This record gives sequence, structure tokens and C-alpha cells, in this order.
Amino acid sequence: MNHPPNRKVLISGASIAGPTLAYWLDRHGFKVTVVEKATHLRGGGYAIDIRGTARDVVERMGLLPRLRQAHVDSRQLTFLDPDGEVMAELRPEALTGGIEGVDLEVRRGDLADCLYDLARDKVEFLFNDSIATLDDRGDHVDVTFDSGTRRTFDLVIGADGLHSNTRSLVFGPEERFHRYLGFCFAGFTLPNDADLAHEGVLWNVPGRSAILYAYEPGESTYGFLTFAQDEPPFSAFRNPQAQRDLVAATFPDTVWEIPRMVAAMRGADDLFFDVVSQIHMPAWSTGRVALAGDAAHATSFMSGQGSSVSLVGAYVLAGELATRTDHVTAFAAYENTVREFVERNQALATEGGGVVAPRTRQHLDTRNAILRNRTTMPSSTEGRSAHTAFDLPDYEQSLRTA
Ligand SMILES: Cc1cc2nc3c(=O)[nH]c(=O)nc-3n(C[C@H](O)[C@H](O)[C@H](O)COP(=O)(O)OP(=O)(O)OC[C@H]3O[C@@H](n4cnc5c(N)ncnc54)[C@H](O)[C@@H]3O)c2cc1C
Repeated sequence: MNHPPNRKVLISGASIAGPTLAYWLDRHGFKVTVVEKATHLRGGGYAIDIRGTARDVVERMGLLPRLRQAHVDSRQLTFLDPDGEVMAELRPEALTGGIEGVDLEVRRGDLADCLYDLARDKVEFLFNDSIATLDDRGDHVDVTFDSGTRRTFDLVIGADGLHSNTRSLVFGPEERFHRYLGFCFAGFTLPNDADLAHEGVLWNVPGRSAILYAYEPGESTYGFLTFAQDEPPFSAFRNPQAQRDLVAATFPDTVWEIPRMVAAMRGADDLFFDVVSQIHMPAWSTGRVALAGDAAHATSFMSGQGSSVSLVGAYVLAGELATRTDHVTAFAAYENTVREFVERNQALATEGGGVVAPRTRQHLDTRNAILRNRTTMPSSTEGRSAHTAFDLPDYEQSLRTA
């Protein structure tokens, strides 16, 4: 294959979108560097689903066998009433529109590991560093890193998440693009004292939910506390103690596993606290800089599609860069190709809190009536069509026949 133009690409962020993009760019003949702020690949996070079009991406990466091994195989969701009594039990697919035996559900950290392992020997990874300045000179981009190193790249891609540093440096403050859905959440690991396995247990009162996800018997569980909050708690973002205090004050309940969850959250070394928000941008690129994954189009966990959409977007961005003659047309084609898919999946998350955290008594009663009557959740049919709303182009085939 001829070397593509704009060969030297810097990607900021090594989670889901970053390593996926790095892998495909390398496979298409680019020279890739990934910079990650953390000192090592970050583990942790909830179990994420890989469905529909995203499953095709990981299949093309040869990852299906490994991801099948990592599949956490949730078999049941149990919904509790405010007193902690069982109200309904059902298969997860009844809510998500996923397909039993086809979809993959893996811990976020396991997916990140798989993606990193594929790229690590071919791509340069710089941990514990971050882009400090970016200067798009028209025919290249000059980059200074926090470490003081200066380097030059042909293109820079921000895959650095909901609170993207690259987006702030190039497109402006996050507030311009941030759509807050009115909830915050805290996720953390805790011991499996309730002896759960392959299941999720959800406790709800209006505007608040506590969830325990369990994987293999005997393994740790993952706790998830979600709560409605009118304004994003800006003061808590840079202060882990304030995050813990806010979550604990919001969950004073003495029912079910809540006291144990709050105590575990207080001491957790992997606490992940954030807002439930989306990113909506009029354009995902400018000049020689583009965005991918949550940085460009966060869908929020309430869509159930954040990682899947990030896998698909990264695949398309790499393919368009490989098959177009210049970055301007490639970036435009990337956006034209996946924007509709992204927006359909963003629309799965609503300010009503969906199934996970119905915001008001009315939202909760409506959800519970559906659960009790065992009718299909509207989210399930909408979900299924959004997950598969896009057919993955075969860029390697295009390159072979070009
Ligand atoms: C540790 C972790 C736990 C998560 N847990 C949850 C969860 O429980 N629920 C949920 O809804 N979503 C969670 N997410 C977000 C979820 O992974 C994303 O929504 C989705 O997978 C899209 O992935 P992404 O690669 O676009 O962004 P992300 O997964 O957010 O990854 C962004 C990456 O960029 C890195 N980064 C950030 N700033 C910089 C910078 N200045 N320079 C270089 N690198 C930078 C981050 O460390 C991270 O590795 C988590 C993300 C991480 C990193």
C-alpha cells in the first residue's frame, strides 16, 4: 500500500476510541503516537455492551474470541421497590434491545486492555503526559506536551473523553458543547457480600438509583449510584472528597445494600464520578485537528451506547483518512458517514432518566407499570434499531480495489 498522506498522527487519550483509531490507522499505514494523561492504561468502569455495528468493528479487529472470554454474561435484572423488596425480574435484553448470545458485555477496563494489546507493539504510547499547546500551521501541527517535549505531527485527533483537553484547546470551552442530562453518578468496586452472580440488582426512588452489578460468582461487584441534580456540581469535579461527601449525603437510606455501598464508595480507590452528559458539536474537526469518541459526541451511559458508538466512529475516521486524498475531505466524510448513527444513539438517552434512574414519581410509576406487566420497554425496540442503524464500510476492500 502507498503511504497515505498526512502520515504522522497524534491521538490524545488511550481508552476506547483512542486505541481503536490507533489500531486502524496503523493497519492502514499511518505512523501513530498516542498520548495518555494517566500513568498507565486505566482499568475500572462499568460493564459496557458491544452491539450491532460495533460488534462488526471488534470482529474485524479479530477480537471476538478474547471478548467472548471476557463476556460477563448478565442473565437477570432484578428491580427492587423503595423498601428493597423484589418488584420485577427479567432478562437484560428485554430493556436494552440487545440480542442474547450475540451481543458482548464486557468490563470497560477489559475492552480497553484488549484494544491496547492490539496496538501497543505497533504504536508509540506516551503515558503520564498531555498536550499543553497545539499550533495548527496549515501544513502541519506543532505540539508542546506538559512534559516540555515539542513535536510536529500532520494531524491531531482528540479521543480524550467527555471533558476533552483537545476540544478545549482547539474548539473552545466545554460549556458550548455540553448537554447536561441532569444526573450525576459514582461507580466503584466493592466486595460481593450479597453473593450475586451474572446479574444486576436495581433499587429506585424518584431521581435516584443504586445498582449492584455482579459478574462471576465470588468476584467483586460494581456499584453504581446515580442521582438527579439540577446543576452540575462544578465545585466537586476537582475534589474527590467533595464527590464522596455529595454522594453519601444524597444516599442516607438505610434500606437494602445502600449503607454498605455508601461505605464502600467512601473508601474505593477506583471511584469514577461524573455528570451524565452528552456532547453536541456543530463540527467534529477544524483544520488539521479532529475529535473522536466521547470528545466529539458523548452519548452518556443512559444511552447504553457510549463505547459502541466510539468504536464505530474511530473505525470510520481511520478508514476515511486512509481512503481519501486529503484530511479535509476525509474529516468531512467521517462526519457525514457516522453523524446520523451517532445522533440516533444519543437520542436513546433522555432527561427523564430512562430505565436506570426515572427522574420523577410519574416516570418511575410508568416504568414500574411496564415492568410489572412484562410488556416490552419502548427503549428496547428503539435501541435495537439504533444499534444497527449503520452498515460498516469495508475500507480495506476499497483500498485493495483502488
Ligand atoms: C477509568 C474510566 C472509567 C469509566 N467508567 C465509566 C462509567 O462507569 N460509566 C460511564 O458512563 N462511563 C465511564 N467511562 C467513560 C466511557 O469509557 C466512555 O463513555 C466511552 O467508552 C467512550 O470512550 P472514549 O475513549 O471516547 O472516552 P473515555 O473512555 O472517557 O477515555 C478518554 C481517555 O482520555 C484520557 N485523557 C483525558 N484527558 C486527557 C489529556 N489531557 N491528555 C491525554 N489523555 C487524556 C483519559 O484518561 C481516558 O483514558 C469511563 C472512562 C474511564 C477512562
